[in-house]
Amino acid sequence: MVLVDGVEFDPDCFYNLAMELHNKGCPTEEVLEILDYFGTKVLSTPTVDEDPDDKLTREDMAHILRGMKVDVAPDTKLSTVRLQQRLHDALDVAQRYSEVFEDASGKIDPGTCPSWGDERDLARAFDRPLRRGLFKDDPSYDEREDAFPNLSCSVYVWAKVIASVVDTVCCVDEENLCVLILRIISTHAVDENTPLILVAYRVAHGRSVSSLKRYVSTEFKTEKGAIAPDMPATEQRFLEFYLALNATRLSDTFKLPEELVEERYKFGFILPTGELQPADVARLNEMKGCALCGEPGSSRCNGCKSIQYCSEGCQKEDWKVHKTLCRAVSSGNWVKITLEANPWADTMPGGYMGIINHPSNNVTITESEDLEKVPPNRYGDQYYLVKLQAPMVGPQAMILVYDVHRSFQLYFVREKNPIAFQAALWAMGDDPRRLYRWAQRIVDWEWRICFDCAPVYSPRW
Ligand SMILES: [Zn+2]
Ligand SMILES: [Zn+2]
Repeated sequence: MVLVDGVEFDPDCFYNLAMELHNKGCPTEEVLEILDYFGTKVLSTPTVDEDPDDKLTREDMAHILRGMKVDVAPDTKLSTVRLQQRLHDALDVAQRYSEVFEDASGKIDPGTCPSWGDERDLARAFDRPLRRGLFKDDPSYDEREDAFPNLSCSVYVWAKVIASVVDTVCCVDEENLCVLILRIISTHAVDENTPLILVAYRVAHGRSVSSLKRYVSTEFKTEKGAIAPDMPATEQRFLEFYLALNATRLSDTFKLPEELVEERYKFGFILPTGELQPADVARLNEMKGCALCGEPGSSRCNGCKSIQYCSEGCQKEDWKVHKTLCRAVSSGNWVKITLEANPWADTMPGGYMGIINHPSNNVTITESEDLEKVPPNRYGDQYYLVKLQAPMVGPQAMILVYDVHRSFQLYFVREKNPIAFQAALWAMGDDPRRLYRWAQRIVDWEWRICFDCAPVYSPRW
């Protein structure tokens, strides 16, 4: 029943009224509006815009990249093409694309891959390590940073039901106005551990909630449809971005199902995605060219010599971000610290150590002979960011220090560095899990760190 001004009406009477108006020549739009408003059965096509021009914005891409631990300022001046390229690169690493596809062409014909089969656990193969919400308490955190881990989780959930129950997934956004419809075509085994889900997809915007609902119900061709409600709009657009990226990898020899081509569906595929490994994070954060726009750099900043620009214009514009480093160099307080590989070497026979409190939760065991080796110096005398972490558990008298490349992972202990230790704790405040500061190598085991100048944007690695 429908309430109008407190009076109950049978929706059918509006339906009859609308039909009567229609027969009397009332404009179609108006008739549809009446039907739409009262949620009655509509026999005509639902009013939706298929394939809306609603793509990831530059800001979306910057936030998603930050969530994948690639350092991009939220208001980055990188060109849109470069931003897209960085997101492509990060996604390729996350789905281990080049590892999985050794083929030189980089393209795949799913038709040549065996079926994944019902007997193997699809969901388990999609279960990859992920971490999210690590930076939620950071003032520069934006929830779009969770689009990547959220999407990976969504895919894992779909994989759980795909084999048995579901052949269509409708991802509806929080406002119930946009839907991405995924039709599962088939599942394949690219190799022993890597499943591939081939999908056809389309995106549609509804002009109203009810028109979108009707649209979705017409797209459920079988009984095996599932709705993924309340998907954040960024995640939805990111999913489309991801599918479009993988669509470019489908080989020309691959035959698409004809009836879906006729219905103007697009095609793509889904691979398991997981957290980026430290080596990948380092590679993706490699700074090439101008610090602001990414074009080839032609000059270095005179103040610190540690950053490149393509032009004076870019240098000027980047100053509000870069000035903290330059000021640190010219007028900051630099404290000398002595780092060491294993503070417990004396007390632990054999000299084995584990890296504690590490974001990836991987425990690295270092052989005792490595402890004496001077770590490589890949920066010369340049300034670069290091991350400092005080252990959450265990002895509180030492702090872990490493760079984005993890070219070294060393500790400094309170006993040998009392001033630096106090300065670090003071700068960490309530959060001992991460502190980013500029450092410079002096000699083998000696660094200096400026504790009083923080970067404008905290990195995410
Ligand atoms: Zn530039
Ligand atoms: Zn500088």
